[in-house]
This record gives sequence, structure tokens and C-alpha cells, in this order.
Amino acid sequence: MFTTELIQQLPKSDLHLHLDGSLRLDSLIEMAKSSKVDLPSYTEEGLREEVFKESYRDLGEYLHGFMYTCSVLRSLENLERVSYELAKDNQQEGVFYIEVRFAPQLLIDLKGVTMEGSLTAVNRGLERATKEFNQQKSVVSGEMPPFNYGIIVCAMRMFSSAFSPYYTKFFSLHHYSDSIDVIKMGAVELARAAIKIRDEKGIPIVGFDLAGQEDGYPAEDFKKAYALVHKNFMHKTVHAGEAYGAESIFQAITELYADRIGHCYYLFDTDKITDTHIVDKEKYVSDLASYIAEKRITVELCLTSNMQTNPAIKKISDHSFKEMLKQNVSITICTDNRLVSNTTVTKEIELAVNNFTITPKILRNLIVYGFKRSFYPGNYRDKRIYTRKILNYYDKIARKHQIDIE
Ligand SMILES: [Zn+2]
Repeated sequence: MFTTELIQQLPKSDLHLHLDGSLRLDSLIEMAKSSKVDLPSYTEEGLREEVFKESYRDLGEYLHGFMYTCSVLRSLENLERVSYELAKDNQQEGVFYIEVRFAPQLLIDLKGVTMEGSLTAVNRGLERATKEFNQQKSVVSGEMPPFNYGIIVCAMRMFSSAFSPYYTKFFSLHHYSDSIDVIKMGAVELARAAIKIRDEKGIPIVGFDLAGQEDGYPAEDFKKAYALVHKNFMHKTVHAGEAYGAESIFQAITELYADRIGHCYYLFDTDKITDTHIVDKEKYVSDLASYIAEKRITVELCLTSNMQTNPAIKKISDHSFKEMLKQNVSITICTDNRLVSNTTVTKEIELAVNNFTITPKILRNLIVYGFKRSFYPGNYRDKRIYTRKILNYYDKIARKHQIDIE
């Protein structure tokens, strides 16, 4: 029923999309050569074999490739280029709205790339691709909705001085502090920067995220950074439930005010609960799932990425997506990393419809949540108008393919 052609044509979004994990492979090779970054191979096949694989041993191997992508991205020119290309690649497959996330502190090189410089360069690339798309006759005439985007900055749950030149310096300047205090300070500094750069430079920094190793770094350590962005009307998302269980998701919502949760994979896993105060674990996860569903806290679902980083998931039909659907949780389908996971939004939707019970109505909801629960850069009224345009276009495409959405 859902052909690739239909899925490509339907208007889609991607709300969980890491810039540094979503480069074009040929561009990475070209930029590595011109920026004198060493790669284990300079052919696409070689890199697919060595670094960006179909499947990975564990999260560590999955993250290995970021070392190379971050090295080439410590350049304003390359940052603008990959941002432009990322928007273009999304437009090519019918994605109309993206929220691109990255950790500026990983890319600051203490030479040409500053916090503000990195955000400006990314915005410039995204803006250029957006203008090109929106100048098309079909968009100007209103026949097709316009493309739009926002930027999310990621604080790191864990970093060491080896992560980037910025972090090296940050650690050396706080020589007498415990590493966890330095990490917390890093997140607060990023929160202040994001608010100021958004307000003074007009860059659409729409959200704040917490990424990186979850295990050993609880959400509550980042309360101060999240309270700052919360008070300044910036949206919040948190990577949670990727390594930890339900309590970590609960913390993200109650302590960090998360509007959305990245992954949320272990939401229903009672074995992952370590808090000894929680006696009835079944009731706890059921109450939490109900709370998330009722508050419309949206799960950014990344199927391929979860399969690749989590060897515990033997087959895709075992994924907790099935249970989330059953509990009526608000879910949006995302890629996580187009290069590292070797995927696209179309592929992720195909995975969903081919392995789970998805009716036309459920598919429409999944796609619509990507717009309704987006951190749209503009006021709520504008967001409603934009979402309405997307919905009308969706229904037009569905009718063309004789899909009955009722
Ligand atoms: Zn992610």
C-alpha cells in the first residue's frame, strides 16, 4: 500500500538530525583532502567498509566516525557547505522541515571557528538552500509548501579534554575542578551563548539538547543549563532512554523540562530501572508512558540507529516502537545520522511501515507530529498556518495515490 514513491512524495520532517553524522560521503573525502585530515580510506567503498558500516558492534564503534567528521567541520567553509548539502538532500526526498543539531563546542578550533561563527556558518548554508527551494514556481504559487528549518545546539553529557581543542582548553583553565563540574559548566556556557546568539543575531536556534554518553551522567547534573534556556523560551529535547531506563526519561521531563525525548528506547523496560524506591516497576513504566502520551511529549524515534547501537535488539519487530504505538505516545520518525546510519527519512518510514502495524491514519499522525511538535522558528500562529499547509499537501498526495486516510 505504501510505495517508496508515495513515501518520497509525502511532506515529511526530521526533528532528530545530527549535522556531524549526516555528511555526504564524497564531500567528506573531498574536504578531508583539502583540510589535510587523515582518513583510513579515501574511497567511498573503503570508508563504508572501515568506518560507516551497515551494522556496528556497539555504540563506541558507531561513534568512531564522528572523529573524522568533526575534524573536517572545524572550518567555517566546510560547515556552511555540509549544512547546505544536508538541506538539499532532505528537499530531494520530500522533507520540508528539518531541525539540525550539533555541538558547537566540539567544532570550535580556537583559530577561525568560534561559537558564534559556527552557528552563523551553519545558518548561512541552511538559509541558502531554503531560499533556493522557496523560489520555485510551485512554492511561490502555493501549490507546494515552503521548506523551513531550525537549529538545535547540543550540550555534551560527557566530554574529556581529548574531545576538541575547545574542551582541551576548557579543562586546562579549570584545572582544580572535578571533571563533572567542568562538564556542567560547559553546558551552562553553551546555554548562555545559544540565548544570546539567538536574540542578538537572529539565528533560528530553536532548541537545546543533551547528547553523548548517558551511562554515568544523569540528567539532573544539567538542571542549571536547562533552567536557563527554559526561562528564555527556548525549546528542550534530551537524549534519554538510549542507555538508561524509565527514571532517566522521567528526569529529562521533570528536571530538564523536556518537550521531546530523543530515542526513549527503554521506556517500558522494567529491568533498566535501578532506583530502589520504585517498588512496583510495571506500574511505574505504565504511569510514565501514560504521562508522556497525555502531555504530548514527543519521542524522536530513530529505528536504524537504535538497531545499530543496541545489540540487545535482535530484530526490528522487538523494538519498543510497537508498545509506544499501542500506548498512543506521540512519535515522530527521524534519522539521527544520515551518513553514520546510512539512512534517509524515506528509508526510516519504510522500515516503520514494513515492520509494524501502521494504517494510513497512523502514518498520517506520525508524519504530522513532526510538524505539530516541532520547535518551529516563529510564533504559534505561524506554526499553525504552516502545519495546515503541510496537511493539505499531505492529503492531496495521499488522494493522488488512492490512500484512504479516514
Ligand atoms: Zn541523536
